Amino acid sequence: MDYRLLGRTGLQLSAIGFGGSPLGNEFGAVDPEQSRLAVRCALDVGINFFDVSPYYGRTLAETRLGEALEGNRHRAVLATKCGRYDVQSFDFSAARVRSSVDESLLRLKTDYLDLLAAHDVEFGDREQIINETLPAMRELKSQGKVRHIGVSGLPLRMLAYIVERSDVDYVLSYCHYNLITRDLDRWLTPLLKTKGVGLINASPLHMRLLTQAGPPPWHPAPETLRRVASQVVALCQSWGADPTAVALRFCLDHPYAASALVGMSSALEVQDNLKSLNTPVDLSLLDEINRLIAPVSDLTWASGRPQNSDV
Ligand code: NAD
Repeated sequence: MDYRLLGRTGLQLSAIGFGGSPLGNEFGAVDPEQSRLAVRCALDVGINFFDVSPYYGRTLAETRLGEALEGNRHRAVLATKCGRYDVQSFDFSAARVRSSVDESLLRLKTDYLDLLAAHDVEFGDREQIINETLPAMRELKSQGKVRHIGVSGLPLRMLAYIVERSDVDYVLSYCHYNLITRDLDRWLTPLLKTKGVGLINASPLHMRLLTQAGPPPWHPAPETLRRVASQVVALCQSWGADPTAVALRFCLDHPYAASALVGMSSALEVQDNLKSLNTPVDLSLLDEINRLIAPVSDLTWASGRPQNSDV
């Protein structure tokens, strides 16, 4: 496993991170023992970065991750979030930040979080995030409950707005740098580099769009993007390459992201994804993929309050 620094946090994250949303059954029901074995396998192969949220499975993912990490908490860089609690339930107030973290600590069976992000900030008021949510998170940092704080969300321009105006340690971005979408480096990465803010690149498989199984029913991508994704999957297959492995490898090659954060729900997926570490992307195949995706490479979708959305 490779390890990479997250901005100026001093934390070394495994290049492949373990995304916890599947543990909350977000991509379909997962057997509890299977999810426990996935986490144990991840630790065994050197994955140290684990990301979760109270939102995933409405606390189920945190509970499962806490149980699976019991006895091995010291081996993990543990990240969770605050502010999002259900599909339409958000609370970015200082009081809720404090209670949310206390509840997460209990479920995760620990007394500190390595990373805490305000979750899906585009659903909140941007001035509240800057003037209330982040200061409350900073207070938890000074109390030792949290080591580093950040923000997560979809619209890159809102993430940049917040980074420009506040003191955050990292940003978790998703679905903006992968085989089919490439606008992360245009809108966000240069700013993060300048400010020394860490970057986590989540959803390297585009929330399953870049797998043979295809997207879950709730996947929000527009039809054009879905069509191109299935063409990319078919193209990889016609070259005898595993589309999932190509997709993950592509993200591992990002020069600034500390970790490609991939959701996993079985030991088999963990083992499968490890192969990407030693399998470079065929550059001729990548040329063909780049030609296919050119018309959609900055295509995203509306998320959050209209004034916060990139669309
Ligand atoms: P992803 O692109 O990582 O895809 C995950 C899906 O792919 C799951 O269904 C998983 O079972 C499947 N998968 C994994 N490895 C596979 C393999 N080798 N073969 C076939 N299928 C495989 O999407 P994601 O899980 O949404 O994103 C990764 C993580 O990033 C999340 O779990 C979460 O921790 C984080 N995240 C955070 C935010 C946010 O904060 N707003 C948004 C998205 C993701």
